Amino acid sequence: MALFIEDSCINCDMCDPECPNEAITLGEHIYEIDADKCTECIGHYDKPTCVSVCPIDCVKPDPNHVEDEDSLLAKFLKNARLTAQIILFSCSIRACTAKNVPYNHC
Ligand code: SF4
Ligand code: SF4
Repeated sequence: MALFIEDSCINCDMCDPECPNEAITLGEHIYEIDADKCTECIGHYDKPTCVSVCPIDCVKPDPNHVEDEDSLLAKFLKNARLTAQIILFSCSIRACTAKNVPYNHC
């Protein structure tokens, strides 16, 4: 399942830079986890790295986003595919810009 951050978060910013999926952002009051991006670090680490670095142990399993390991792995692969597509698209744009032609004409 995805994880969530409890209200006791002290906004220390230890977890945000460690998340391999960029799933953690500063919300209105405390840091928050995007359940669509969180894979419990499957595909990157053996255990959730945000849990490992949190000094007050306020990152917990999210009962509203229960997922088994296969689902988390599928989410990781989906995110990886999207990232690859964005990189490919960005490279194509840069190549077209370098040739000074519209996208899809180079
Ligand atoms: S468990 Fe991993 S993927 Fe999920 S929020 Fe924490 S660091 Fe990010
Ligand atoms: S590491 Fe823990 S206390 Fe620090 S910002 Fe993240 S959730 Fe909050």
